[in-house]
Amino acid sequence: MKYAIIGAGIGGLTTALAFERKGIDYQLYERVPEFLEVGAGIWLAPNALQVFEHLGVLDQISANSSEINRITIGHPDMRPISDNPQDNIKQLFGYTSKAIHRAKLQALLLKEIPEHKIHLGKSFQAFEQLSTGKVQVTFEDQSQATADHLIAADGVNSKVRQQLFPASKTRYTGQTCWRGVSAFELPDAIKGRVYELWGDQVRFGFSRIAAGQVYWFAVALDQAGQKDAPGTTQQKLLRMYADFNPLIKQIIQATPQARMMRNDIIDLKPIRQWHQGNICLIGDAGHATTPNMGQGGAQAIEDAYYLSNLIAKAKNPQQNVFADFQKRRQKKVNGIVSQSWTTGKMAHWKYGQGIRNFILSKAPKKLIEQKMIEMYQIDEFV
Ligand SMILES: Cc1cc2nc3c(=O)[nH]c(=O)nc-3n(C[C@H](O)[C@H](O)[C@H](O)COP(=O)(O)OP(=O)(O)OC[C@H]3O[C@@H](n4cnc5c(N)ncnc54)[C@H](O)[C@@H]3O)c2cc1C
Repeated sequence: MKYAIIGAGIGGLTTALAFERKGIDYQLYERVPEFLEVGAGIWLAPNALQVFEHLGVLDQISANSSEINRITIGHPDMRPISDNPQDNIKQLFGYTSKAIHRAKLQALLLKEIPEHKIHLGKSFQAFEQLSTGKVQVTFEDQSQATADHLIAADGVNSKVRQQLFPASKTRYTGQTCWRGVSAFELPDAIKGRVYELWGDQVRFGFSRIAAGQVYWFAVALDQAGQKDAPGTTQQKLLRMYADFNPLIKQIIQATPQARMMRNDIIDLKPIRQWHQGNICLIGDAGHATTPNMGQGGAQAIEDAYYLSNLIAKAKNPQQNVFADFQKRRQKKVNGIVSQSWTTGKMAHWKYGQGIRNFILSKAPKKLIEQKMIEMYQIDEFV
C-alpha cells in the first residue's frame, strides 16, 4: 500500500476520493465502528465546492443542500450590521456557498469510495518509521498496517500529530458552542440566507440546510470542559436567547434535545512543520482553525485537492511531495487561522460593542467581497 490515511472525516474522505479519482493506491482507517447519522450542518464555501466539482460530486452535493445567497452579521433582533449578498461570487465561480447536513455530505463521499478500501473500528495508536523507509501503524486492537506514506486526517486532537510533534498545542478560545438541526422551515424571504446575530457576548447563527431543516449554532463564553446536566440544554438556550428575535426561540424549540451537541471551541496553535519523513498532517490534524470564517472543512478539502494533484503530477512515483504541499498551502491556511481567531474574539467583546458594530457596518462591501474571492480561489493544476 502506498498511502495509509488515518481518519474518515471531511478531510480523510475527500482525500480518499481524490486518490480514487487519480488512481493513487490508498487505504482509509477510521476509529468509529460505524457511521451514524448524527452531527449538525456545515457551510461549504466555493473553494470547497470547486474541489468537489473537480472530483465529480458537485451535482450530488447541490441536490442535497441549500444555496446561500446572502451572509448577514446582525443585531439580536436581526437588523443587519454587515450584509453581504453573494451575487458577484456566484457570477465569478458559478455558485455561492452551500449549506448541507454533515451526515449527508459524509454519505455522499462514502458512496464514491470502494468498501474494501475503508476500515472501520481501526483506532490509530502509534506509528513506527521502519528502516526500510516504510511506516508501520499499530491500531488499538493491536492489528497493524504498513504503508509507504502516512496521511494523518484524524482531526484537531490528532494522535498522529501528538506522536510526531509532541510540542504542538491546541488553544481554547474561552468560547463554547451548541449546535443542532431544527425541524423547521424558514420564512421564504430568508430561505437563502445565513445569519449570525451578535448579542452581548453571545452569538446565534443559522441557515436552512434542506427542506424543513435549519442548522444552527449558539456560542457563549465559559470555562473549558463544562457540560450541561442531561435534559437541560434547550431551556438553558431559550433563556440565553430570550431577548433575540422570536424566530430564534422557534428554531431552538423545534430542535429535539437529543439532536443538540456541545463542544468547546479550540484550534491548533500554528505549527511550523506539517510533515516529517513519510508522514504528513492534513485538515484539522495539521491546522485546525476556529469556525468563525466557516473555513476549517474547506481547508481540509483543499488539502485533499493539492495533495492528490501533487502526487499525481510527481515525475517519480516514489517522490515525497509533502514539503511542496506544505509550501503551497501554509500561508493561506495560517492567514485563515489567525483571522478567524481575531473575529471570534471580537464577536464576544465585553466593551466597545457599539464601535465594533459601527466599524463593521461601514466596512466597504467591495473590500469584504474581494477578501472572500481571494479566499475562495484555488490553483489550477494543468
Ligand atoms: C462549531 C463548528 C462549526 C463549523 N462550521 C464549519 C463550516 O460551516 N464550514 C467549514 O468548512 N468548516 C466548519 N467547521 C470546521 C470543520 O468541522 C473541520 O475543520 C473539519 O471537520 C476538519 O475535517 P478533518 O477531516 O480534518 O477532521 P474531522 O472532521 O474532525 O475528522 C477526523 C476523523 O478522524 C477520526 N479519528 C480521530 N482519531 C482517530 C484515531 N485515533 N484513529 C482513527 N481515526 C480517528 C474521527 O473519528 C473523524 O472521523 C466547523 C467546526 C466547528 C467546531
